[in-house]
Amino acid sequence: MSASSSNSLPIPPDWLLPLLQCPLCDDEIESNVARSGTQAGNRFYKCIRYDARQCRFLSSSMLTGGG
Ligand SMILES: [Zn+2]
Repeated sequence: MSASSSNSLPIPPDWLLPLLQCPLCDDEIESNVARSGTQAGNRFYKCIRYDARQCRFLSSSMLTGGG
């Protein structure tokens, strides 16, 4: 019969998340990992306009349902 080709690439556990949208300004949200401080190693999410002080969206967890 015909050969079946499986083209499923192995996805690394730390696969990049799809682009998220800022709930405040509808711009993009980027994910970063804290390199220092008490949150070192923890992932957090920040609006791309945050550094420019054009938006205040900064979250340590995104859409996890936690308070
Ligand atoms: Zn924003």
